[in-house]
Amino acid sequence: MTLVLRVLLLFVLVLLALRAAGRFIGGVAAGAGAGAGARPRSRPGEPPVKMARDPVCGTFVVPGKALSATSGGTTEWFCSETCRDTFARRG
Ligand SMILES: [Zn+2]
Repeated sequence: MTLVLRVLLLFVLVLLALRAAGRFIGGVAAGAGAGAGARPRSRPGEPPVKMARDPVCGTFVVPGKALSATSGGTTEWFCSETCRDTFARRG
C-alpha cells in the first residue's frame, strides 16, 4: 500500500467517524432539546383549569361540570349527588 492510499483511507475513515459522531451528537442534542425546550405551561397530569374540591369526599371536580350547591353565598362543587346530599344534610 502506498502512502497516498493510506492517507486517503485514513481520511475517509475519519470522515465517516465524524459523520457518525455528528449524527449521534445531533440526535442526542435534538432529544435533549425536545425534552428540555418544549416545556408545557402545565404538567401533563395537571389539569389546565382551576379545580374545585368536593368538601365531602375531597375529590377534585371541574367547576361548571360538577354538581353544585350554594350555601352562605359560596358555591360548592360535588363529585356526586351522594356527596351533595351529605353536604346538604350537614347544613
Ligand atoms: Zn364527592
